[in-house]
Amino acid sequence: MQKGNIRVQTENIFPIIKKFLYSEHDIFLRELVSNGVDATQKLKTLSSIGEAKGELGELRIDVKIDTEKKTLTISDRGIGMTAEEVDKYLNQVAFSGAEEFVEKYKGQNENNIIGHFGLGFYSAFMVSDKVEVITRSFKEGAKAVRWECDGSPEFILEDAEKAERGTDIVLHLNEESLEFLETARISTVLEKFCKFLPVPIFFEDKQINNPAPAWTKKPSELTTEDYQNFYKELYPFNEPPLFWIHLNVDYPFNLTGILYFPKIKQTYELQKDKIQLYCNQVFVTDEVKDIVPEFLMLLQGVIDSPDIPLNVSRSYLQGDPNVKKINAHITKKVADKLEEIFNNDRKSFEEKWESLGLFVKYGMMTDDKFLDKANKFLVMEDTDGKFYTQEEYKLATETLQKNKDGKQVILYTTDTVQQDAFIQQAKAKGYVVVKMGTIIDGGFISQMEMKWDNIQFTRVDSDITDNLIDKQENVESVLSKDDETKLKELFTLQVPELNINVEIKGLSAEAPPVTATRPEFMRRMKDMAAMQSGMGAFYAQMPDEVTLTVNGNHPIYKNLLSQSETGKQQKAIHNLADLALLSQGLLKGNSLTNFINRSVELMN
Ligand code: ADP
Repeated sequence: MQKGNIRVQTENIFPIIKKFLYSEHDIFLRELVSNGVDATQKLKTLSSIGEAKGELGELRIDVKIDTEKKTLTISDRGIGMTAEEVDKYLNQVAFSGAEEFVEKYKGQNENNIIGHFGLGFYSAFMVSDKVEVITRSFKEGAKAVRWECDGSPEFILEDAEKAERGTDIVLHLNEESLEFLETARISTVLEKFCKFLPVPIFFEDKQINNPAPAWTKKPSELTTEDYQNFYKELYPFNEPPLFWIHLNVDYPFNLTGILYFPKIKQTYELQKDKIQLYCNQVFVTDEVKDIVPEFLMLLQGVIDSPDIPLNVSRSYLQGDPNVKKINAHITKKVADKLEEIFNNDRKSFEEKWESLGLFVKYGMMTDDKFLDKANKFLVMEDTDGKFYTQEEYKLATETLQKNKDGKQVILYTTDTVQQDAFIQQAKAKGYVVVKMGTIIDGGFISQMEMKWDNIQFTRVDSDITDNLIDKQENVESVLSKDDETKLKELFTLQVPELNINVEIKGLSAEAPPVTATRPEFMRRMKDMAAMQSGMGAFYAQMPDEVTLTVNGNHPIYKNLLSQSETGKQQKAIHNLADLALLSQGLLKGNSLTNFINRSVELMN
């Protein structure tokens, strides 16, 4: 038996390791199981080049709990270690690795470090009072040895009995870590970190992993069903995905993975199941914020890359050239795939647009390279369910929907039910109204007005139909100047919650007698303000800006203006105005009650 001291450079690193990553103690299991996987893979390699002789037997890793002894054991049938190797790798390599790691991250916010790779074997001391390693090398005639260390720099190394090749790591759990004697706890940790490790892993004699997950295979080997099944494996409770992209890059960096476009109906579902990041099939994190372009955070699936530096802090990662390239590559792949589906199967593309549109629009707003590509396949759905690309919309509306500055006007609705009256009038004029009612559309519209050439978006209720497309047209009414002034006075109501402007126009006699509209600009300002706090919230409280456009050509005014009873006249006008406000959803509270009472009165 040999007793010795691990050469300590840093003043006792064990207490630091024990405390380290308190919130993520469970990574010790990932580290130890991965070591077992490495040892197994090494054996396979040595065997394939003839350096390891004989039968390899069943290569598997076993995780076992002994509640009586309060131990957790991780066993592999990999290359094992000789006494010299134990001294070299555990006393020196592993130790100096752990020391370096602790040195590097001592002062850092632990949650800021991606993956926490690097602590390796010594992470066992985060949860153990004592660690035993019983190992036998694959080398011919190698003797088994036992190494023991109680968390102080002292260790024991002695001969041991072990029939089979490989390594058992026995953790004598400390008082604070007895949770790892619970089957459910270990299951959860294995499920999280080891689900796709490449060597079969057994816990209490049940295999817990899929050693050959879909992303490690060639796309040509996989069927649609395989992709869908793998999605189910990742997110058992989700509806099947819309489609997927198989990533496979080997230059200038290594990266594989499958990204899925989920079906999204409710926006609260966003970000529920995130993309998982793996390093050689070892789960690292599902915080992929700096690796995946922001707009693609809405995707699901896995990315596996040994080239993403994992034991670094987030701020470092953002500047890493590999990470930037990965980002650009993923964006390009996604855009290409969308274009392919759009070109080859437009019908299915349109059917999926409800979910897809969100990614595409968000991407166009945040990534100019994506925007360039997406301009070709972004579609807008009109109120009859017909889809137009930007180019197609232009062609369809070229003559009718140009304003006096030569800009193409895209008419849109945010609510087909509420804005129905306006939509019907616009359609009667031959205009095409597209639906822009999702949470993202407000922002999308204002950005595209800047990014697209000669385009202006106008909400269908922002002006009366005759004026919707701002053209220089004659809009004189048949009324006398005096009558116009009188009408204007009557319509200028004093309502506290509204700022009412009145204008008299000469529209067609069939057009409504009065229409309430909210100027596009003011409405957008208020919508934006409503989403902010502070000053924004203050603006949101301000009265709504409303324009009442009175159609002087409507026959109703002839009678009304000759009405001698001024009370009756006033009430009738008030009712006309209220009807217009009602169609804009602007008649509320007291004003609404007054309208109802007044209507009853007028019927009498
Ligand atoms: P890393 O795995 O990053 O090299 P570790 O601290 O986890 O660092 O392990 C140090 C070394 O100890 C490994 O490189 C390996 O040589 C050896 N080792 C650890 N666990 C095993 C094992 N289960 N079987 C064989 N060798 C092992």
